[in-house]
Amino acid sequence: MDRIKMKTPLVEMDGDEMTRVIWEIIKDELINPFVDLKTEYYDLGLKKRNETDDRITIDSAEATKEYGVAVKCATITPNAARVKEYDLKEMWKSPNGTIRAILDGTVFRSPIMVKGITPCVRNWESPIVIARHAYGDVYKNVEMKIPGKGKAELVFTSEDGKQERFVIHEFEGPGVIQGQHNINKSIESFARSCFNYALDTKKELWFATKDTISKQYDHTFKDIFQEIFEKEYEDKFKESGITYFYTLIDDAVARVMKSKGGFIWACKNYDGDVMSDMISSAFGSLAMMTSVLVSPSGVYEYEAAHGTVQRHYYKHLKGEETSTNPIATIFAWTGALNKRGQLDDIPALCDFAQKLEKASLSTIESGRMTKDLALITDLQDPKVYNTKDFIKEIRKTLERMANE
Ligand code: NAP
Ligand code: MG
Repeated sequence: MDRIKMKTPLVEMDGDEMTRVIWEIIKDELINPFVDLKTEYYDLGLKKRNETDDRITIDSAEATKEYGVAVKCATITPNAARVKEYDLKEMWKSPNGTIRAILDGTVFRSPIMVKGITPCVRNWESPIVIARHAYGDVYKNVEMKIPGKGKAELVFTSEDGKQERFVIHEFEGPGVIQGQHNINKSIESFARSCFNYALDTKKELWFATKDTISKQYDHTFKDIFQEIFEKEYEDKFKESGITYFYTLIDDAVARVMKSKGGFIWACKNYDGDVMSDMISSAFGSLAMMTSVLVSPSGVYEYEAAHGTVQRHYYKHLKGEETSTNPIATIFAWTGALNKRGQLDDIPALCDFAQKLEKASLSTIESGRMTKDLALITDLQDPKVYNTKDFIKEIRKTLERMANE
């Protein structure tokens, strides 16, 4: 059989632990036999990051800017235990953080739905995609405990030395205060990434803040979104038949619960942090959640939303069998291949990516799955496979589909 040819290479970012093991098997079993894969390979495994003083992470992000599409394996974000385990020169920063800072992107997390894994919320028929603003607010706050009686003020000193001053509170006794900030440029990038992704996926876009209470801070988010929408996107949205919808966060939460799903929910940093955990657990499993970083200039980096599945990796190292779910990592590959196919006008590549997704899901729907899904499925008598055998089952389904 002729393998599908590619034009532009994908930026391939390899990673750590169990997901690195799965990465290799996915390529061997599901991609290389069908696609004449072209990649620019970057090893973001912790060992290599340490050897290169993390230069490799920066290089991979720069390459993504150049080529436009990347696929990334989960990577370890070092903590004190990892510094010891890998004998690190430094506690290197989170690769995702480094890449996101260079690409200035927004992360979109989307649950993968499959028959037999039913969302807790009965009326959710399609995925709800969460877009989380990844800069500022409470994550870059300054806070202090107030020891006792006194006045807390908000002061801004402009470049020319002029001051603006507001009283936060006249304290009669002990309390707490907090200063938060955001910058218009970052909010604008967030807005553009959301609008672009909505157009790209033809999904409606919701955005919500607490602008009724926060009349300057949250209202700025609302205004920036509205202004950019009207100036740059309104016509394109009309053409695509999708809508942009702003509402109060309380109203959004109520509507989300009553909805059928199928839209993108853009959230401020904190809301996105909290709501994405709610959405992913309500849809079923972190192992069935994909993630794509979209830059305002239209660069894409696909990955699984879960980590390196450390616990399974240690079992694997001991020679024990693991049943780690490869679906989100497979979908990172299919997302990237499909996008590459669109950009380079290779319909066969898009077609292959979609087939591989279908084959993965129909394998599960036929009752063959990994242990995590077997525990939550409502299919009768599911058959549990180890990671490699499950991927081989997907390959069988894929080959059967190719011959149909
Ligand atoms: P994790 O890798 O997401 O795994 C947490 C637990 O979730 C696992 O122990 C497993 O539960 C379950 N799980 C996650 N993915 C699964 C899958 N594909 N199949 C089956 N079960 C799955 O999180 P972690 O163990 O807290 O973190 C491990 C490392 O990943 C850390 O070093 C962290 O820095 C890194 N991390 C990386 C990324 C990224 O690169 N995007 C994201 C998050 C974390 P059971 O053990 O109960 O089976
Ligand atoms: Mg969280």
